[in-house]
Amino acid sequence: MNYPQILDDIFQHVQPLLGQGKVADYIPELAHIPLHKFGMAVQMVDGRSFHIGDADEPFSIQSMSKLFTLTLAMQLAGDAIWQRIGREPSGTPFNSLVQLEYENGIPRNPFINVGALVVTDIILTHLNDARQTVLDFVQMLAANPAIHFDEAVARSEAETGFRNVALANFIKSFGNMHNDPAIVLDAYFHHCSLAMSCLDAARAGLFLANEGRLLKSNEQLITHRQAKYIKSLMLTCGLYDAVGDFAYRVGLPGKSGVGGGILAVMPGHFSVCVWSPGLNESGNSLAGTAALELFTTLTGISIF
Ligand code: GLN
Repeated sequence: MNYPQILDDIFQHVQPLLGQGKVADYIPELAHIPLHKFGMAVQMVDGRSFHIGDADEPFSIQSMSKLFTLTLAMQLAGDAIWQRIGREPSGTPFNSLVQLEYENGIPRNPFINVGALVVTDIILTHLNDARQTVLDFVQMLAANPAIHFDEAVARSEAETGFRNVALANFIKSFGNMHNDPAIVLDAYFHHCSLAMSCLDAARAGLFLANEGRLLKSNEQLITHRQAKYIKSLMLTCGLYDAVGDFAYRVGLPGKSGVGGGILAVMPGHFSVCVWSPGLNESGNSLAGTAALELFTTLTGISIF
């Protein structure tokens, strides 16, 4: 398989899409990100890696962080987390409040905002510092100690994240948040503000393609079974109310963020991260989705 050539073809194909879509300007600090940016990195389980475009430029991973926080919560609390969070697609936008009242404060899944708030709450109950723990974890996974929180992005979200504040307080009223909502929100906003490049994120997500094991040390980070659970949730819940369209077009489990990143994995083969900040109406990267669709089409590799 000529991966460099395939990435080059994709780069040419997506050019007309760069500049389309809308940056996530509801977080003011993300409003200035140039629309035409595009990067893509593939990390193979045999150690090879390929990239193109702005693949080494850090971007705001936003909800891609929900993958890493869920992994940590599974390590810490195992199956007990499913007493507090569901495992079904929501069919609603990532920041929706509507289902929560009917469903007694139990979020539909760990990848919508309110689900990730419960995940963060679980991490906080087990460890005192959910912020630093997640930063250390992601630096270790990506083998890059330079990964950091973008404090300006975290502050910008804290100043304008009224919906997330509402979600946190709402589940607190149902008893599904055990810590102080302000502390949980602060950790959540920081996790979302993590600045990582496509190369970092592809490396960080590789354990999911590698049966839960780290490539370098062969350490079993989570069990094979837990890695299966996370990928199943990515496939069914990773792209909010556009998850069916993404599965149809791309055919890989993925997790998106409003920074314009999407991390996807092919079990036993590779992890791939694409970044382009122009979002479609569901809040997922427009050119990024197209690039991943081309990637599975041109390689002929997808889970289906
Ligand atoms: N930090 C963003 C928010 O809470 C994350 C949403 C996303 O990336 N889909 O709104």
